[in-house]
Amino acid sequence: MDKKKVYCYYCGGEQLVSLQAFSTVCPLCNQRISTEDLIVSSFYSRPKIATSGSIFIESSGFLRSCLRVHNLSLYGRLQGDVTAANKITIGTGARLEGNITATRLEVNSGAKINGFCRIEPDSIKES
Ligand SMILES: [Zn+2]
Repeated sequence: MDKKKVYCYYCGGEQLVSLQAFSTVCPLCNQRISTEDLIVSSFYSRPKIATSGSIFIESSGFLRSCLRVHNLSLYGRLQGDVTAANKITIGTGARLEGNITATRLEVNSGAKINGFCRIEPDSIKES
């Protein structure tokens, strides 16, 4: 069975889970972690979303939430703070209102960001 590598967003520990798994329990800290990917293509509001997967906000999407994710790709609008264990990509025309923390950040020209950024390339090892 195909596996994917997931990182615990509580302790940073890694494990392999099946591609079909939506959640797992971290072997190191015993927290239940979601591994789902989320695609946002319209308005969506939730107090917070945590996943060791990726969140993709399409140009038509507007997400209002505090996020803890592995990767975030923002092409629409996001209101809320984001912590990404790996990478945040902000596309042309995207709009972000919130503070971001990530290992890597890629911002395309034309993106609007209103918030503080903290980028720490060495905090998690993974290319
Ligand atoms: Zn953990």
